[in-house]
Amino acid sequence: MTRIVSRARCITTSSRAEKMSARPDRHEAAREPGRKLLQVAGLSFFQRPLLAWRRKSRHVAFPDQSRVYRYTSASSASTHSTLGPRITVPAQRSPRRQAQLALRRSLATVARSDVFANISAADIEAFAKILPSPSQILTTISPESGSAASYQAVDPSELDTFNNDWMNKYHGKSQLVLKPKTTKEVSEIMKYCHSKNIAVVPQGGNTGLVGGGVPVFDEVIIQLGGLNQIRSFDEVAGTLVCDAGCILESLDNHIAEKGYMMPLDLGAKGSCHIGGNVATNAGGLRFLRYGSLHGNVLGLEVVLPDGTVMDNLSTLRKDNTGFDLKQLFIGSEGTIGLITGVSIVTPRRPSAMNVAVFALDSYEAVQTVFGQVKKHCGEILSAFEFFDQTSFDVVQKHATAHVRDPFEARHPFYVLIETSGSNKDHDDEKLQVLLEHLMEEGMIQDGVLAQDETQLQGLWALRESIPEAAGKMGKVFKYDLSMPINKMYELVLDMRKRFDEHGVHGEGKDVGAVCGYGHIGDGNLHINIVAKSYDEKIENIIEPYIYEWTSEVKGSVSAEHGLGLMKATKIGYSKTPESIEYMKKIKDLFDPKGILNPYKYIQV
Ligand SMILES: Cc1cc2nc3c(=O)[nH]c(=O)nc-3n(C[C@H](O)[C@H](O)[C@H](O)COP(=O)(O)OP(=O)(O)OC[C@H]3O[C@@H](n4cnc5c(N)ncnc54)[C@H](O)[C@@H]3O)c2cc1C
Repeated sequence: MTRIVSRARCITTSSRAEKMSARPDRHEAAREPGRKLLQVAGLSFFQRPLLAWRRKSRHVAFPDQSRVYRYTSASSASTHSTLGPRITVPAQRSPRRQAQLALRRSLATVARSDVFANISAADIEAFAKILPSPSQILTTISPESGSAASYQAVDPSELDTFNNDWMNKYHGKSQLVLKPKTTKEVSEIMKYCHSKNIAVVPQGGNTGLVGGGVPVFDEVIIQLGGLNQIRSFDEVAGTLVCDAGCILESLDNHIAEKGYMMPLDLGAKGSCHIGGNVATNAGGLRFLRYGSLHGNVLGLEVVLPDGTVMDNLSTLRKDNTGFDLKQLFIGSEGTIGLITGVSIVTPRRPSAMNVAVFALDSYEAVQTVFGQVKKHCGEILSAFEFFDQTSFDVVQKHATAHVRDPFEARHPFYVLIETSGSNKDHDDEKLQVLLEHLMEEGMIQDGVLAQDETQLQGLWALRESIPEAAGKMGKVFKYDLSMPINKMYELVLDMRKRFDEHGVHGEGKDVGAVCGYGHIGDGNLHINIVAKSYDEKIENIIEPYIYEWTSEVKGSVSAEHGLGLMKATKIGYSKTPESIEYMKKIKDLFDPKGILNPYKYIQV
């Protein structure tokens, strides 16, 4: 420590014993009384007090819901060839490529399938026999007159929360929400729906961003929040078994007391369910360190479309007996089964945590810094996020809770790095060497390092507030793409140029901001295009251009949000016709009647 202090003029007061004490809270380490206060020569590294912004989150606020967007999958022909300066579509295409493109452009408007039954009062009476409490049924369908009904109809507005998504972009017209509390109840509901050809949509916390969790038409909503029990936690192995409707943040708080943490973290953690996370194969902020749910989920309990309960709720780390069927349900977005139970391995909670934000002058610098951060802090790195100045400005102007700007000037790019480990001295030392190197080499223009929990939360707020602030500013066309890291920002610049060429970009115009941010460490770019309304004219400028661009650089049109309704016809940009064919066969195998989450994912 002495060496670092002298080299970087650090001040430290805490004893090693204080620093090493294990704390249950994720960010408790940042409360160490003697957290280092860094000041690196000539630059404002780091000791400015940051705003007391705390991640109260708990429940994600819904942005303004005043405008209504009617979903249409129709979109105009691409003007790509004239407006795409860097990525060009080849003139000669292979038959496979042509087939892919044909699929992408099969843009038939979704229509309600008359294969599915209309819900009647008699159906609701049947559900009332399965669900013991009247509060488990919410319906606008009145009981038949004269019947001794066990339920009452409610005003349609009471179903709004379930029929509309977080962005208020997708709007269903379901007349019935069922709220089972046990796997058996889910199974009985599905048996009935299967026998009557009733289409259903599984719904978790309804924080999905691709329209997957709300009905397209009048599908019955099965809301899984009633399945919210923790079944077991093995403190030696760190394996958690719980109901699918448990809220991610509640689970994290529960196991924090035992020194563990959930292997995933996302801005919607206060509302999203672990079942929804598994169904969407959510990525989030810890993906870089702990990897995909495909690796962390050990077992699942699933109710199949015909009501069969498939119990694969294993807690084994190793099990090579046959096909690993649970993997099919991870990322299946409620199209082949309803997840009712989850077994997941959780990592130890780190006792030392550091968060820093650097300001940079170019996207090249972002990439260079990423390389340096991996080189110096690879094994303790838990997040590497980037955001551009537009995102920063949007947060400063529109975030609900004030998020303090810790810098003296605005910069074109920012990166947030988080390190977490079990030895604070070790981590501090590594970070110290990194910071000195970055400053001496002129790779960063400025930087701030959190000194306590409040500041740590304040720095995270700069990044995590972007989706919410964009939603406050206007209607957001969200794109969640993965691609080679060196291509990521080129797309943001191309999109801005494209809007400029159409004369719709700028203050007072249709498109107010094009924000680029995301998980650099995972090659995952989020482009949020903030418009005055969900206008088809704007959508047609964006699509299919953005998907073709991504496909040309061999990226994925959905890095982590899934396909849902938004991208049900877009899968061909990222998957071959053969793969799609086999996906359709899998859907057909589990759900031959197609009653589970129809019209979405892969349109069959
Ligand atoms: C502010 C904000 C930040 C976000 N950040 C991230 C992020 O960093 N990374 C990321 O990946 N996502 C992110 N998301 C998207 C979203 O939070 C995730 O997709 C999340 O996993 C959805 O969980 P949910 O419980 O809300 O599911 P819902 O929105 O209710 O449903 C999503 C899909 O899963 C299906 N489903 C839900 N529960 C079940 C179940 N039990 N069984 C079967 N199918 C089910 C639904 O039918 C639907 O298709 C963010 C969203 C918001 C609003």
